Amino acid sequence: MSSAAVTKATLPRPGQASYGEIVHAALARIAAENARLNALLDVYAEEALAQAEALDKQAAAGQPLPRLAGLLYVHKDNIAVAGHRLSAASRILEGFVSPYDATVIERLKAAGAICIGRANCDEFAMGSSNENSAYGPVQNPLAEGYVPGGSSGGSAAAVAAGFCHVALGSDTGGSIRQPAAFCGLYGLKPTYGRVSRYGLIAYASSFDQIGPIAASLDDLIAFYEVMAGWDSRDATTAAYPVKPYTSQEPPKRWAWLQPVGLHPAVEAHMQAIYEILQKKGFVVEKVDFPYWEYLIPAYYILTTAEASSNLARYDGVRYGHRSAQAHTLEELYARSRREGFGPEVKRRILLGTFVLSAGYYDAYYTQAQKVRRILYDFTESLLGQYAIIALPTSATPPFRLGEKTQDPIQMYLSDLLTVYANLTGHPALQVPVGQTAEGLPIGLQLMGPLYEENRLFTAAYAMAALGV
Ligand code: GLN
Repeated sequence: MSSAAVTKATLPRPGQASYGEIVHAALARIAAENARLNALLDVYAEEALAQAEALDKQAAAGQPLPRLAGLLYVHKDNIAVAGHRLSAASRILEGFVSPYDATVIERLKAAGAICIGRANCDEFAMGSSNENSAYGPVQNPLAEGYVPGGSSGGSAAAVAAGFCHVALGSDTGGSIRQPAAFCGLYGLKPTYGRVSRYGLIAYASSFDQIGPIAASLDDLIAFYEVMAGWDSRDATTAAYPVKPYTSQEPPKRWAWLQPVGLHPAVEAHMQAIYEILQKKGFVVEKVDFPYWEYLIPAYYILTTAEASSNLARYDGVRYGHRSAQAHTLEELYARSRREGFGPEVKRRILLGTFVLSAGYYDAYYTQAQKVRRILYDFTESLLGQYAIIALPTSATPPFRLGEKTQDPIQMYLSDLLTVYANLTGHPALQVPVGQTAEGLPIGLQLMGPLYEENRLFTAAYAMAALGV
């Protein structure tokens, strides 16, 4: 077993080539591969080249360069970039151009990172395979015919294909970690409230977090540190300072969650890593997790409830698609929404409206909130005894395109292991840990205390040093 064993296309890095050359290399790859992969919906060639040229001039003049100078990234199509289209991969926002930058974009721009395009995703970030996009599915760059994961599938595919160094995703129930796992990459869902959601199209506001996907842990950390921290425009951001990462002694006590029903290759990798860690002096203990069966129901009740409210704003009046067939106001709302939303989004609006309706609210929504609290308390008490909680990111390696599209429940069940961290708000880092005999990537995730992202980074570096 070797760390991040999957071969990935790599771009030159700052220092290895001029900024202009890095952008040209990325554009050449995009030109060669994007039509097949469908990872990017827009490419910002001119802007990226202009930014690179300015950086090259600064460098030539011996001026100091900002921290992320020359690192290329793409933004998921639910994160606003001023002057560019923003559609959440939905027909309902077709043609919409964002008038402003999300806070994360503003911060990355100021740090010299170069945005090279807009990444495909599942419609309104609802999905686990990137097959719910109005702009077509994304191919996994590492395995022809397989999904890249979702909902940030275009983001992960863009990194794996060497279009950029880092990609921004959003994670409501796994949408950064699962596609990162399916593409053999690192992916971080920060603590809820750590990164501003200003400029992120809301899916389920009490779950959503923006985070980075990258082939290199160093790049992931650098992007995280620039994006994280309090923002006056998002009242849910925390005021805790973001402590710059410094390498430390790895945490020694790990709780190990190994659910039943794992794919044999995932199970074998987990077991092998467990044994290596133990041999190397870590105290890794298999812990019983009594709540597996409640995770998916609680997650889908709460997120669809929030989504039904968040998506009420797409009414055909304020922005996006407006039906040409409507004669009355009622008809305008109904037809615009019917024509604009795809089937998965409609399914979730219906489910969310149902669980919030009088007579069912207590039976579903209130119960799910209680489950959420119980999970949080359990996790906090577990983290009182262990420094890290480790579990697989996905029970299976990537599946084939089309394999689960006929059965939404099967698709929902594939999120079992990732929704946990969103229900409790704890940070979670996906770490690539190898591949199946057929070359399909396998991932493991590390969870830790609120705002202790640095502990996850330390643990991931320790794993890399051990070759797992
Ligand atoms: N696959 C999950 C869902 O469909 C997670 C999505 C996400 O994290 N945005 O809800």
